[in-house]
Amino acid sequence: MRICMIGTGYVGLVSGACFADFGHDVTCVDKVPAKIEGLLAGRMPIWEPGLEALVQHNASRGRLKFTTDLVEGIRDADAVFIAVGTPARRGDGHADLSFVYAAAKEIAGALTRPAVIVTKSTVPVGTGDEIARILKENGAPEGTSVASNPEFLREGAAIRDFKIPDRIVVGAEEESAREALREVYRPLFLNKAPILFTGRRTAELIKYAANAFLATKISFINEIADLCEAVGADVQEVSRGIGLDNRIGSKFLHAGPGYGGSCFPKDTLALLQTAETYDVPMRIVSSVVEVNDARKAAIADRVRDALGGELAGKKVGVLGLTFKPNTDDMRDAPSLTLIKRLQEGGAEVVAFDPVGREQAEPMLPGVTFADDAYALAKGADALVLVTEWDEFRALDLKRLAATMRGTALVDLRNVYVPEDVRRAGLSYRGIGRGEHR
Ligand code: NAD
Repeated sequence: MRICMIGTGYVGLVSGACFADFGHDVTCVDKVPAKIEGLLAGRMPIWEPGLEALVQHNASRGRLKFTTDLVEGIRDADAVFIAVGTPARRGDGHADLSFVYAAAKEIAGALTRPAVIVTKSTVPVGTGDEIARILKENGAPEGTSVASNPEFLREGAAIRDFKIPDRIVVGAEEESAREALREVYRPLFLNKAPILFTGRRTAELIKYAANAFLATKISFINEIADLCEAVGADVQEVSRGIGLDNRIGSKFLHAGPGYGGSCFPKDTLALLQTAETYDVPMRIVSSVVEVNDARKAAIADRVRDALGGELAGKKVGVLGLTFKPNTDDMRDAPSLTLIKRLQEGGAEVVAFDPVGREQAEPMLPGVTFADDAYALAKGADALVLVTEWDEFRALDLKRLAATMRGTALVDLRNVYVPEDVRRAGLSYRGIGRGEHR
C-alpha cells in the first residue's frame, strides 16, 4: 500500500515508521521544515525509545520518505492519514480542529485519484462528517472516503504498542474504506490484533471513552490514596488487592501527583464539551477532571509540609519533569504546576530530567538545571521525585543525604521503601502510604 502520513509528531512519525516496517511505502509530511530537514539527516524531532533505529532502517530501504510538500507526499497514495495535533482550545477546552480541517483542505486540492482519508488524530464525534464535507467542497475526486482510526499508543512504549496493539478500531461508512484499512493493517493480523469495525462516529467516541475511563481509574485511586493516608492504610497494597480482580485490572491504579500529558487532560475536557453540546450530563468525567486539577494544585502543599510548613527560602530539587518516563513530552506535565506553586511559595527550584531538559527549560523560568540527581541534591532542603525514570529507582540514598542541606524526600511515585530512606538519614513522604507517612 502507498501511505501518506500528515503530521510527523509522536503519533505520525511512529505510525509512519511502523507502517513502513510492515513493508508499506510511506511518505511522512510535516509543515515544519526543521523537522523534515532533521529527519532527512537522521535526527528525530522527538525522543521515543527505538524510533531512531526504526526510522533509519526503513528510510535506508527506501520505504520511508519525508517531505514538507503535501502534494508530492500524497501522489498515488491509497490511504492518507491525518495525524496532526488537536490541542485543547484556549478558554473552553473544546478540541481545536483547525489543524485537522486545514490538512483536509490541502488534501482535497492535492488528490489526483480517490483515496481513503483516515483520521488518526483524536477528534470529537462528527469530525469525520465535516472532513467529508470539506473534501467534497474542495474538489476531492469522486470515490474518496473518510474513515476514523484512532490511535491508542502510549509515548515511551509507542513502537511496541503500535505493533502489538490490544485492538485496532476502524470507523467507516464505505466498504472501500474498510477494505483499504484491512489491507493497511493486514501485517498485524499475524500478531492476532483484533480489528474492530464500527461506524465512524462510534470510532471517534471510542477513543474519548477509553481515555476518560483510564483517567477515571487514576483519579479514583488518587482519592483512595488520600483516604489511605487518613486511615493508616497503604494504597499500593489496596491497588494490588483490587487490581488482581480481572474485572478491575491492575493497570492505571498507581496513585501519584495526578495525570498529565498530551492526551488525558485535553481529551477529558473535549469529551465534556461534546456532552454539553448534546446536553448529556457526564458527572463522572466532570468529577475526574475536577479531582485531578485539585490534586495537581495541592501537591506543592505536600512538599511544604515535608519541609516543616515553610517553602520560603528553601531549595527544592525536582527529580523528573516529563509527564511520564521514556518521553521528552512536557505537555501538561504535573511538574509544571508543582514547580510554579513551589516558586510562588518562595522556594528556589533546581531540576533534573534525563531527556526532557530541552523541552522543559523554556517552560520553566527561574528554574536551575542540574546534570544528574547527585548534583541536584547538593544543598537541597528537599528532593521531590516527580517522574519515575528508571535511573531514579536505585539512587544511592546515603550519597544524596550527605550532599543535601535538609533531609526531606517526597516520593510522588512511591518508588522507595520508606524504611530504606529513613535508614539513609532522610525523612520520607510518599503517596497514600498511611502507615509510612
Ligand atoms: P504532535 O504535536 O507531536 O504532532 C503533530 C504534527 O503535525 C506536528 O509536527 C505539526 O507540525 C504537524 N502538522 C500540523 N498541521 C499540519 C499540516 N497541515 N500538514 C503537515 N503537518 C502538520 O502531536 P501528537 O502528540 O503526535 O498528536 C497527534 C494526534 O494524535 C492528536 O490528536 C493526539 O490527541 C493524538 N494522539 C496522541 C497520542 C500521544 O501519545 N501523543 C496518542 C494517541 C493519540
